[in-house]
Amino acid sequence: MDINQLVRKNIQKLTPYQSARRIGGNGDVWLNANEYPVAPHFELTEQTLNRYPEPQPEKVIQRYAQYAGVQPDQLIVSRGADEAIELLMRAFCEPEKDSILYCPPTYGMYQVSAETLGIKTKTVPTKADWQLDLKRIEQHLDSVKLIYVCSPNNPTGNLIDPEDIKALLNIANNRALVVIDEAYIEFSPDSTVVSWLANYPNLVVLRTLSKAFALAGLRCGFTIANKPVIDALQKVIAPYPLATPVADIAAQALSKDGINAMKLHVINLNKQKEKFANSLAQLSVVEKVYPSSSNYLCVKFQDNKDVFNILWNKGIILRDQSKSIGENNMIRITIGTQAECEAVLSALKAIK
Ligand SMILES: *Cc1c(COP(=O)(O)O)cnc(C)c1O
Repeated sequence: MDINQLVRKNIQKLTPYQSARRIGGNGDVWLNANEYPVAPHFELTEQTLNRYPEPQPEKVIQRYAQYAGVQPDQLIVSRGADEAIELLMRAFCEPEKDSILYCPPTYGMYQVSAETLGIKTKTVPTKADWQLDLKRIEQHLDSVKLIYVCSPNNPTGNLIDPEDIKALLNIANNRALVVIDEAYIEFSPDSTVVSWLANYPNLVVLRTLSKAFALAGLRCGFTIANKPVIDALQKVIAPYPLATPVADIAAQALSKDGINAMKLHVINLNKQKEKFANSLAQLSVVEKVYPSSSNYLCVKFQDNKDVFNILWNKGIILRDQSKSIGENNMIRITIGTQAECEAVLSALKAIK
């Protein structure tokens, strides 16, 4: 029996998302998934594993609401921001009929989630400066229910102009939700748009504990929006999205001490980033280091050098973004520890 014949048509065509962890490699320097380079330490305090967890763990919601400066009913917690990307589609888009819109080069999961759900996708590439092409977005809004904008953008590292986000919210008013993916906002905290919720009923903000909070393995993310949006998401989310140990650790990470530790990490990492960017810019193999408001650098290397594979063979695993950005030798490098950044620099210096 050919099981593949039973699989939904749109799923038959798909290949699994090439996440950083799936690509493989035998490295000892992992700078390809925008993870924080050092593991935080937590002890479990909840032992009630015979019971189902709270559907929306109150402590986690209370503490994140306070951290983000919103009301608890403007928040839903999920299995990472990735689950939130999909929940929005499941709540707002009719399969085969409605579309999402996003602006490449950007995060790959908007497309993957839409394709698995049978929701159509429209793409409006960013302009040469990686900012939104508002005129073309406006021309492509037919059937669009969700517009995903990542700021700071992955993989390019730039913030999206806040005036453009405002203009987009106005263009989309009464037609579509504008979803601002703030997975990296802790590295540029002044640029959050959360305070605009009072003025824009169609604004949605995505957050995660995976990046600045150093908890990618925890799988915990947040959607911030006005209550009617959150109410719709509550209808489609799984009954128990967060395991008890996840909620336990998330609550600790969001305590006063946890948030202070995260902020200290961000200060150090941003310093490390500046130093690393300056050192990279001085290497002959480097053509350009793009400014970054996040925890990674987008770097353009000389066209005739096989930088990605040379470093791969030395156990330094980076992320090749040439295809997604549409330019040869564009590599995204996560900011690691000082030792890891130095390993990258010395491997690059050895390239003749
Ligand atoms: C890492 C990342 C996410 C996913 O976050 P999780 O909470 O780990 O699912 C979402 N959006 C962007 C832009 C990311 O880079």
